[in-house]
Amino acid sequence: MRLGPRDRRDIRGSPRYDSAGARVKLPDNARFSTVCIHAGQEPDPSTGAIITPIFQTSTYVQDELGRHKGYEYARTQNPTRATLERNIAAIEGGRAAFAFASGMAAIGAVGTMLKAGDHVVVTDNTYGGTFRLFDKVLTKFQLSFSYVDSSSPELIEQAMRPETKLVFIETPTNPVLRLTDIARAAEIAHSRNARLLVDNTFASPCLQRPIELGADLVVHSTTKYLNGHSDSIGGIAVAVQDEDIDWLRFIQNAEGAILSPFDSWLVLRGTKTLALRMAQHNTNGLALAEFLAGHPAVKHVIYPGLPSHPQHELARRQMRGFGGMVSFDVGTFENARRVCNRVRLMSLAESLGGVETLISHPASMTHASVPPDRRAAIGLTDSLVRISAGVEDPDDLIDDLRQALESDRDSSRITEREPLAVSPARP
Ligand code: PLP
Repeated sequence: MRLGPRDRRDIRGSPRYDSAGARVKLPDNARFSTVCIHAGQEPDPSTGAIITPIFQTSTYVQDELGRHKGYEYARTQNPTRATLERNIAAIEGGRAAFAFASGMAAIGAVGTMLKAGDHVVVTDNTYGGTFRLFDKVLTKFQLSFSYVDSSSPELIEQAMRPETKLVFIETPTNPVLRLTDIARAAEIAHSRNARLLVDNTFASPCLQRPIELGADLVVHSTTKYLNGHSDSIGGIAVAVQDEDIDWLRFIQNAEGAILSPFDSWLVLRGTKTLALRMAQHNTNGLALAEFLAGHPAVKHVIYPGLPSHPQHELARRQMRGFGGMVSFDVGTFENARRVCNRVRLMSLAESLGGVETLISHPASMTHASVPPDRRAAIGLTDSLVRISAGVEDPDDLIDDLRQALESDRDSSRITEREPLAVSPARP
């Protein structure tokens, strides 16, 4: 995959020559996987270490009053975090990126770009934590939100008001995998002087490049595909406009919800294999979706790569691969419970985007805090099961699902507690 001109212009931290005049590795026309591995990184100048060290320090010794090496205090500047930020800015085709302690901290930082009286149009099926932040926290500061099915551009258009400053979309959504046309959403937002933000967590920049399609801001839970190894919580906000970059840099330091040096290092390790991992996630997602679509115990499969997906054509146009997230309906809650309890290789767990395949029951797990009528409105039934396909051999995953759909064994990992009641304390 070749990067567009915007990407090449914006790869920061990779000068063509270093201070000693030596040529650096990353060519201007580097392709996606090469950018993932090299962008923003040079061998450590003091040792030649090829991997950016974990700069686990709180402060930096200054040469004399008023003279230092560009680093004063580690909340404000940290070389490991800065390397990750340059790397992801390049990968997303943005001009700068800012890493935070979680995906929610990154979304919270973007929220501070707004002021009292501003209005935001949001995908109705947005991540529950995002909804909670908007609904329970940001409304206290006189911000208002309209939740629309952003898969219909007309509904975005109808929700726009003179005071709308931000259109916040997630595509594909979790767990019903609905898509929004990013280029159309950007046109609508820009025609009303609003910014378009895309939460690109589910697709990853390998499969979907919102900034090339007109988005002004991209956020990620790096916890998912960017890190990819289920061993770090983090978030990042990527920006293209000077005003946004200045504000995000300011608020990252002012609020201080920074990503730690060790987590920055873990995510940097993760992005090196992003292209390899996503290729296998795509293969496994499609293999599982096709297997499930042909199984008599499955009522319905939701996967953007299947021609039966209502937005398959948009997915083909907008995404480079259909990803590892697959949802399927097995008719009843009892059937869903049985499948989740019977899998052996797959793990019953929340989260997604790691190398291990996870299975979950959204109505009683990730989306338990969403009121039942809202769940029904977005098609999130009690009989829906979600899989985050990892990178194992797809035949092993299919064997596991087949035995889970067909055997009589039951190990009661999801119990008969009031499983579908609204729970106020979901993560
Ligand atoms: N955005 C999306 C789409 C998510 O799925 C999540 C978490 O699942 C988040 C944001 C929040 O990320 P984190 O859990 O890293 O705070």
